[in-house]
Amino acid sequence: MGVEALARPEIVEMKAYSSARKEAPGEGILLNANEAPHALLPDEEMLNRYPDPQPARLLSRLAWLYGVGEENLLVTRGSDEGIDLLTRVFCRAGQDAILQCPPNFGMYKIAAQTQGAEVISVPRKVDSAFELDHKVVLQTVAMNNHIKLVFLTSPNNPTGDVIEFDFLSRLLNETRGKAIVVLDEAYAEFSRLPSAATLIKDHENLVVLRTLSKAWASAGLRCGAVLAQPALISLLRRVIAPYPLPSPVIALALRMLEDDVLARQKLLLEEITSNKLTLLNKLKQFSFMLEIIPGEANFVLIRVNNSDELLTFCANQGVIVRGFPADPLLKDYIRISIGSEGDLNMLTTIFEEWEHIK
Ligand SMILES: *Cc1c(COP(=O)(O)O)cnc(C)c1O
Repeated sequence: MGVEALARPEIVEMKAYSSARKEAPGEGILLNANEAPHALLPDEEMLNRYPDPQPARLLSRLAWLYGVGEENLLVTRGSDEGIDLLTRVFCRAGQDAILQCPPNFGMYKIAAQTQGAEVISVPRKVDSAFELDHKVVLQTVAMNNHIKLVFLTSPNNPTGDVIEFDFLSRLLNETRGKAIVVLDEAYAEFSRLPSAATLIKDHENLVVLRTLSKAWASAGLRCGAVLAQPALISLLRRVIAPYPLPSPVIALALRMLEDDVLARQKLLLEEITSNKLTLLNKLKQFSFMLEIIPGEANFVLIRVNNSDELLTFCANQGVIVRGFPADPLLKDYIRISIGSEGDLNMLTTIFEEWEHIK
């Protein structure tokens, strides 16, 4: 059974919108898309033209970067758009559900709620650094026929733990023909594990999400990728906006992936690894630390007493870290992003003062 059987029937019936830019190449005398004859900014001479919906050079560079074929990739406005497209394609309002494992990234739930899909949560184990409850995840998908999307994150935000391939393969096999497993790899570059993109060729129900937002220092670019088998990519193409990527973004994304930037990105990863080690060593020395969860991403999760007070204390001195006031699972936890050496020195100086007055 193909993934079409899992998608909303009306999406399977539908054809993708055929834009002028898709039907004809962007060459020759272009009088087919109601564009202006020339741009008004002399340096941006192509701005009057609609961008390529899936720019070939960017597609091929990202496919190379993520180790898949171009037919396995859809470029999106960040992973957020990938999450939204998947939910719209696979979940019928009032009938289907997603499964998530909180604490995790908040957008899975928002996308599901927007689509009118039920959100089924399998909470992580609070007593063991928020380890994923493998058994309950497998039981829940086995018992519930409404679940169409299983969202997993590796490394997970905000707990930093990774999904081992053993479990992923087992889940993929047990959900075959039943649900899509979406592995969000927003932080994969920081982790010791290789990407699960290698499993795509054997699993029609696997989707891997990647992004340039985190390890490529390009959150402002809004550029991400959905990786999957062509049949699934084709379903997403039917609902994606006709021109998701603005031309300045396409140009900048290509620039980001040139060799000299690739080299700088390696250095950035080394910098973050080193800053994270330094931070963890310092954190260990504070007596008010109740728990430190290092994880495998560019952040650490800590637990302290009276986290609200500490957050305010930090903010008053100009350093903003992340608390989770709306999430009971994360009461008194604080997520610290790995910033520059200077940023983290500021933070630990504030923590020293806190230690002193407490
Ligand atoms: C930051 C983050 C994203 C968002 O990525 P964009 O590409 O910027 O949309 C996706 N998933 C997780 C788990 C994240 O933490």
